[in-house]
Amino acid sequence: MNSSYFMNLEEKYGAHNYKPIPVVIERGERVWVWDVEGNRYLDMLSAYSALNHGHRHPKILKVLKDQLEKLTLTSRAFYNDLLGKFEQRLAEFAGYDKVLPMNTGAEAVESALKIARKWAYYKRGITMNQGNIIVVEGNFHGRTITIVSFSTEDQYKDGFGPFTPGFKVAPFGDARVIRDLIDDKTLGILVEPIQGEGGVRVPPEGYLKDLRAISSEHKILLMFDEIQTGLGRTGKMFAWQWEDAKPDVLILGKALGGGVYPVSAVLANDEIMDVLKPGDHGSTFGGNPLAAAVGIAAIDVLVEEKLDQRAKELGEYFLRQLRDIKSDYVKDVRGKGLLIGVEIKKEYGTARPFCEKLAKLGILCKETHDQVARFAPPLVIKKEEIDWALERIYKVLTEPIYNKGDAKKVV
Ligand SMILES: *Cc1c(COP(=O)(O)O)cnc(C)c1O
Repeated sequence: MNSSYFMNLEEKYGAHNYKPIPVVIERGERVWVWDVEGNRYLDMLSAYSALNHGHRHPKILKVLKDQLEKLTLTSRAFYNDLLGKFEQRLAEFAGYDKVLPMNTGAEAVESALKIARKWAYYKRGITMNQGNIIVVEGNFHGRTITIVSFSTEDQYKDGFGPFTPGFKVAPFGDARVIRDLIDDKTLGILVEPIQGEGGVRVPPEGYLKDLRAISSEHKILLMFDEIQTGLGRTGKMFAWQWEDAKPDVLILGKALGGGVYPVSAVLANDEIMDVLKPGDHGSTFGGNPLAAAVGIAAIDVLVEEKLDQRAKELGEYFLRQLRDIKSDYVKDVRGKGLLIGVEIKKEYGTARPFCEKLAKLGILCKETHDQVARFAPPLVIKKEEIDWALERIYKVLTEPIYNKGDAKKVV
């Protein structure tokens, strides 16, 4: 079967909520994937950083297979012999008292918002159901109705109202405005340490530290959504470590599932997490034994293979090499660790045609926010593989644009 057969199937029977790069993948191993026609590609998207460990990491697969032979799902109506171990491993690894296990990122964010609100009313004395949370322009925290309620992206909201109240939006990267927005009903701040979907936007240095100070000063909760930046991606296990700005509530997802299974979590200390009482919140699949086994293995591999350190060293190299490419098309190259964005100047159209050309040369990446090509390979990538990619990226960023459809300005 050729690619178009599979693409047509999705087109006909699937909701059209994505516009994929036209590549049909059928196999993956470490940083490489193969399409149904036998072509090989270097995966530089890593499922939006859910594949930090690479495709089908042998250790994670082994744990998954072993657990499949034993027990997969119990629900939280009963205990299981792995959940507590996972919670302990994750809590100690990230430095918090307690873990709330969920499945997807959006669920974890929703859960964090619920915990923060409950904490505000029962512990902090904010008037019941009157609290507000400050978020930042350009945010991406998932797709549920509450989360898109505070998105600043029109398309994410269009046609989905009425929206959840209780959020205030601050401009990106400006801690002073956040301070000014705080009122007596503010209970927390929710931000991504680096905005991934927003276009790999790195806030000014000192920003996270300032938010930490502001939150402590006003006794409100600092919540970091590290679903994309956490677990080694930016060159530290958690992006907050770059500024020693440990949040009160840490939200993880994506790579916590080791590239094989959805696992997310909210972390906080007892004083906060203990607001949840039996029956307050739940998830049928959250904390299931398969997820717990995979989550433990995912953390083990991060630590054993020092994937944070790899991301730091290789990311610095990759960023430097990308910045050295002299391209008329590029407006900016930025990022931290192996989370890198190349912003294309608007007069040359969007980043999409560049990503499509790269796919033809064997590199998978995806545009975000129209202008930015995001390069975020699995953290297990080797330097030679980055060099292999750089040759091709160089070609695409320096060759003339012939096809008028590719860009507004043809050179
Ligand atoms: C991907 C992502 C989410 C949403 O995760 P899902 O698993 O897709 O629900 C939330 N926040 C950030 C920062 C993300 O990158």
